[in-house]
Amino acid sequence: MRIAEIFYSIQGEGRLAGMPSVFIRTSGCNLRCAWCDTPYTSWEPEGEERGVDEILAAAKRYPAKHAVVTGGEPLLAHEIEELTKQLKREGFHITIETASTIFKPVSSDLMSLSPKLSNSTPEGKFARMHEEHRLNVPVIQQFIDGYEYQLKFVADKKTDLVEIEDILSKLRNVDRTRVLLMPQGRTKEELHERAPWIVELCKEHGFCYTPRLHIELWGNRRGT
Ligand code: SF4
Repeated sequence: MRIAEIFYSIQGEGRLAGMPSVFIRTSGCNLRCAWCDTPYTSWEPEGEERGVDEILAAAKRYPAKHAVVTGGEPLLAHEIEELTKQLKREGFHITIETASTIFKPVSSDLMSLSPKLSNSTPEGKFARMHEEHRLNVPVIQQFIDGYEYQLKFVADKKTDLVEIEDILSKLRNVDRTRVLLMPQGRTKEELHERAPWIVELCKEHGFCYTPRLHIELWGNRRGT
């Protein structure tokens, strides 16, 4: 599968924020978010073809007990089921970061589902494709029903909450404490600008706020 990077850092987002983790980042995505923070896996995908054994050996070089499989969209990769099975066999706790537009029966301890709102739709030739594919409620439901999960929404403006509540109304059995709001932003300044009103909306709606620690600490840089 095509791999953009493998590195050791801390999980920056979500319920496991702060956890030392090895990151396996696949390249290639079926969406084109306007504010994508890893365009080298979506808009202009880069990376090398690497086999499951090779990826596993690279991951095991680090002292991490947690593996985060991310992208791009990792569920596009043909060997993703085999990779996650092998990671599990090696004893890793696995988080999969996905936009949840595609279902595959992967091995995962935490499905980090990040359905994309209309704030992600780009202008230009990819707009229609993105809009058609960004939300797949049956796939989200399938992951919620079968896995430990978190539902992570990227909040850009206050009116996004209407859209988030609308998506939640189409899903069954959602634990609202597993719904995370994360500020849209690729710089510390952008995150800080949005954080105060997002925290207030979390308090009002019973959601959790999630930071983006890697951006806070290092800015939007590869390998972090
Ligand atoms: S789904 Fe993720 S990787 Fe794909 S374009 Fe959107 S932000 Fe980028």
